[in-house]
Amino acid sequence: MSENYTKPIPEPSIDSQPFWDALNEGRLVFQACGDCGKLRHYPRPICDECYSDHVEWKTSNGKGVIYSWTETHHPFHIGFRGETPYILVTAEFDGGVRIQTQLLDAKVEDLKIGMHVEVVLTKATEDLTLPLLRLA
Ligand SMILES: [Zn+2]
Repeated sequence: MSENYTKPIPEPSIDSQPFWDALNEGRLVFQACGDCGKLRHYPRPICDECYSDHVEWKTSNGKGVIYSWTETHHPFHIGFRGETPYILVTAEFDGGVRIQTQLLDAKVEDLKIGMHVEVVLTKATEDLTLPLLRLA
């Protein structure tokens, strides 16, 4: 991507800043409960299993499977104009955490639930790396 990036820029919170920092360092990480170990995403302050506020970060191997997808035809933001249609995938990673992001270089008619995907860390701006996906 380029310096002329026109899509919305995430605004990291105190909880999600380590997630975005790790992407910029070349790693996909997920929050893990520091007490029961349950992984979670999106980043948030409290474990929904045991209500602990102990937070750890685990590096993912970046490999997941397709949980669901949709093909987007309408550009809901001007930054996506000219890129439609594109495929948005909800992918499930180890520990059951899911992220929703764009699937690159695929045709919607070829997709199946459970297909293997891998993260492609994609530099959008100097300070923003996005975890996009491709078929593995
Ligand atoms: Zn917990």
